[in-house]
Amino acid sequence: MTRMTVKKIPALKDNFMYLVVCNETKNAAIVDPVEPSRVLEVAKESGVTLNKVLTTHHHWDHAGGNAELFKRYQEDASLGQLAIYGGNDDRIPNLTNPVGQDDTLQIGNLKVRCISTPCHTTSHICYYIESAEDKVVFTGDTLFLAGCGRFFEGTPQQMYDALITKLSALPDDTKVYCGHEYALNNLRFGNTVEPNNEDVLKLLNIAKDADLDGRRAMVPSTIGQEKRTNVFMRVHESSVQKFVGKSDPLGTMQALRAAKDKF
Ligand SMILES: [Zn+2]
Repeated sequence: MTRMTVKKIPALKDNFMYLVVCNETKNAAIVDPVEPSRVLEVAKESGVTLNKVLTTHHHWDHAGGNAELFKRYQEDASLGQLAIYGGNDDRIPNLTNPVGQDDTLQIGNLKVRCISTPCHTTSHICYYIESAEDKVVFTGDTLFLAGCGRFFEGTPQQMYDALITKLSALPDDTKVYCGHEYALNNLRFGNTVEPNNEDVLKLLNIAKDADLDGRRAMVPSTIGQEKRTNVFMRVHESSVQKFVGKSDPLGTMQALRAAKDKF
């Protein structure tokens, strides 16, 4: 048995929640539990002790279930204690454990490292876990399959730091679990930006075929796949720069996001 299991739980219209289980201890954490009843149901079915919430950011479709889940734990002592992690931000409900860049925490024997990626929101956190067999990162609304989040509370420089300096530095075989299923639309945009990118075209065709069942088919991606197919991770490529008429990576990041906002 591998040390870590990640269970993908579709929520709302196109969100994902993720149950992360340490198989050695049966301790578990939930990423962005926007549907608390569903989370408790899956935890029970899986036979795990759920005692941590990992919040990626304050938006309601990610952190909006924190208060209700916390309340359920207070009402039912048999569930134990619930710790709620997230960036230091009073807009994250029931935050008990604020975290920042390179802070670590444990899910049973699994070690989680926090990666601070301000831009979509000022306190956005990605969570990276490396075990003997597997590497995974939960990227919320910073990095999507073939896309990135909107720059609501930040600058192109900050998204550059997040995607290029920090997330691109993770091992290529790191699995990427993002906050939403936007693969089809993102890949259509990628195909418009880089019509000659065969890897984008290949994925786009898979996404089209997977249309109805897309929430199961496309996620997780990998960091290596994103470097080959995500135009926001490719702002150093002349093909991407040419599309927006820029010659520098930062200007390209800014213009690309503006183009995607209108796509
Ligand atoms: Zn968001």
